[in-house]
Amino acid sequence: QEAEIGLIGLGVMGSNLALNIAENGYRIAVWNRTGSKTQEFAAGAGELADRIVPCDTLEELVASIRRPRPIIIMVQAGAPVDEQIAALRPLLSAADIMIDAGNANFRDTMRRFRELDGSGLTFIGMGVSGGEEGARHGPSIMVGGAQSSWLRVRDVLTAISAKYKDDPCVAWLGPDGAGHFVKTIHNGIEYADMQMIAEIYGILRDGVGLGTTEMARLFETWNEGKLDSYLIEITAKVLAATDPATGKPVVDVILDRAGQKGTGRWSVIEAQMMGVPATAIEAAVAARSLSALKTEREAAEAIYEDRPVRFGKDRARDVVDDLEAALFAGKIAAYAQGFAVMEAASREFAWGLPMATIARIWRAGCIIRSQFLDTIAEAFEDGPVTNLLTAPRFVDLMKEAVPALRRTVARCAEAGIPAPALSSALAYFDTYRQARGTANLVQAQRDFFGAHGFERIDAEGHHHGPWGGD
Ligand code: NDP
Repeated sequence: QEAEIGLIGLGVMGSNLALNIAENGYRIAVWNRTGSKTQEFAAGAGELADRIVPCDTLEELVASIRRPRPIIIMVQAGAPVDEQIAALRPLLSAADIMIDAGNANFRDTMRRFRELDGSGLTFIGMGVSGGEEGARHGPSIMVGGAQSSWLRVRDVLTAISAKYKDDPCVAWLGPDGAGHFVKTIHNGIEYADMQMIAEIYGILRDGVGLGTTEMARLFETWNEGKLDSYLIEITAKVLAATDPATGKPVVDVILDRAGQKGTGRWSVIEAQMMGVPATAIEAAVAARSLSALKTEREAAEAIYEDRPVRFGKDRARDVVDDLEAALFAGKIAAYAQGFAVMEAASREFAWGLPMATIARIWRAGCIIRSQFLDTIAEAFEDGPVTNLLTAPRFVDLMKEAVPALRRTVARCAEAGIPAPALSSALAYFDTYRQARGTANLVQAQRDFFGAHGFERIDAEGHHHGPWGGD
């Protein structure tokens, strides 16, 4: 019996995805560079083993799959993907589909599409979110490529995807790099979401002096309200966890140096290239980079001595009362930025990205999953959206939540508590909703030193200032 699909790369993601596919009733052929892992995987697959075809060679893998053959490549992003494509190419025939399911840079995906052009082979760039658990029990899947190849894999991907109520969290989002681009922005938003939560934690720890148990309870409460989301839920669990070795809260023994694998940075780079402000995401990426400068920060703290100031007892209650709404307002601004970046890319690359669908397939399976995404989907379905900040559904929410964000950012500034993502979200909002900004002065300066000219508010054309002979 032929396998319905193949998979290369039995690492964390690949092995879980393969089990998910098998569990959903599909026969799957698998191959891994280190052959012993293939055998171990098949041996450990329990009752799913009869749907798994372990292959010792790529030839064997290819020969085991029903045509046209879809083959998922789930290896380290970058050169390993190119190596696997090169190894598969001579073994495949027309209409076979290579599916890169790793965290590729969408520009690499675009290049791979170009390189396969005219070969008869097809390619899919597929973003998969949800980590190990998602891969095993239902990830959110963002597909980019030719629609004909999507039709060949639609059933199996729909079966293995996460479900929000009954809606499968998978969709074809557009040609070539669309899927990987959307996954990148998903991760950029995830960075901002996580950073803003970490800033709230910082306020509670350094400004309010709350213990982790009380913090955990607070996050649990918030998870019942408008912040209801996976990241808030796991933050509550993380804060409640105790380190078995020391008996201390786990967060207290973790070094404050965050890792990053690149997708957050790519979001910011692409946003900058298109001239779309994504300040909350930028702040989140920068915060991780600053976190990496541990020894420099230690030295700077010794030089400047002063520490964040604790809020007095009475004030602390007001501070805490504002945090839920502050985080909510910051979150809306960050998502507005992420969707604005996708809008711009959709125009630039002629993808026709379906924004409401993107919001819907993020409602389950992925790291930023939340109910809030339902509201975003509805906002896009209400009518054309220039920016989520001015979408009717969000205007009232922002009006209600922004004062708390403003107070929170002001208090952080006074107390010396860093809140870069929350602050930049507020600055973005304040700048975006200011009809008359201050760029008139920048234009005057540019004209003064570089004769760049400016537009006037009261006349057409290109003008210069009366700067005289300076
Ligand atoms: P792992 O490190 O667990 O596994 C890597 C896999 O890639 C192994 O099977 C390894 O084979 C294979 N591999 C590495 N280099 C080569 C090569 N040159 N040729 C052939 N095979 C190679 O990685 P993950 O499963 O975590 O990640 C896979 C992809 O999924 C990455 O792009 C990652 O960014 C992405 N991703 C990961 C998520 C996560 O939460 N972990 C979430 C979403 C996406 P071998 O056993 O021989 O070393």
